[in-house]
Amino acid sequence: DIPILKLSMLKKYFPYKKGSFVRAVDGVSLEIFRGETLGLVGESGSGKSTVAYTVVGMYEPTNGQILYNDQDISSLYKFRSNEIKGKIRIVFQDPNSSLNPRRTIRQILFTPLKLHKNDRYKGFPASPEALLEEVGLSSIYAYRFSRSLSGGERQLVAIAHAIATNPDLVLLDEPTSALDVSIQAKVINRLMDLQNRYKLSYLFITHDLSLMRNVAHRVAIMYLGKICEIAQTKEFFEKPLHPYTQMLLSSIPVVTDEEEQLKPKKITSRGEIPSPVNIPPGCSFHLRCPFVTDQCKKLDPDMKELEARHYVRCHLYK
Ligand code: SF4
Ligand code: MG
Repeated sequence: DIPILKLSMLKKYFPYKKGSFVRAVDGVSLEIFRGETLGLVGESGSGKSTVAYTVVGMYEPTNGQILYNDQDISSLYKFRSNEIKGKIRIVFQDPNSSLNPRRTIRQILFTPLKLHKNDRYKGFPASPEALLEEVGLSSIYAYRFSRSLSGGERQLVAIAHAIATNPDLVLLDEPTSALDVSIQAKVINRLMDLQNRYKLSYLFITHDLSLMRNVAHRVAIMYLGKICEIAQTKEFFEKPLHPYTQMLLSSIPVVTDEEEQLKPKKITSRGEIPSPVNIPPGCSFHLRCPFVTDQCKKLDPDMKELEARHYVRCHLYK
């Protein structure tokens, strides 16, 4: 099976003061398969949004490769073919960034539909009204302006806008974190329903690890521009290996006794996330890690596959 998306040692550095760089994405490798959701989880400043913006062509990679169906698409958005533009779409945290307040929802949804009209397949919604119904909104919303919609409704319109081109991959950048909790579930359910019906692949970016338990097929944890652990969701929550993952999981509230038993013992982190301009040498987590050794301060660990499809980057594991 060829992955829909494959990133190989993707790097995105931004110039900073006096020849220094912000290493926002610093060698990320991952794969996403058809119909799969990969949760990309990290604190703010970990580089997870920069991964999405680079994949979609808003930034050019500093180094590394972006493959869509085995085809190199590492160029900026404006240089990509309409086909590629339509196959990889993004939903932002703030839906207003894709919704022009001076246009009706119908006009907004018509733009991607028109751009990709040659790509229709039978049964795929081909009108703004059909797209609205696809995301659970009444077709009469077509004649309204986005400012008259609630936050949740606007995000559903942004999702309709993203799927209008019949994409393979949708990058979801914290799509529900600006919404009320009651609305979040509704939007997530709609996303999962669309995934099943159209075999969509999702890169689901979030800082909310607990949300991934029921949404992601696999989970990747990002810290200071690097992925420190990737595993299938069940294994990830039952057998977290990286000290940083264990720290994140130990701060999630538990619901059942079973979960209490599975929960890693409380790991207290020391200090805050360092700045991506000043990434410490060796393992980038070493300033906060309770298991740090001299080796960790000098040598950046490689990613190792410890069990089938369970990868971790830490010197504790040989
Ligand atoms: Fe901690 Fe060392 Fe593992 Fe880094 S490599 S997470 S510092 S034990
Ligand atoms: Mg972000």
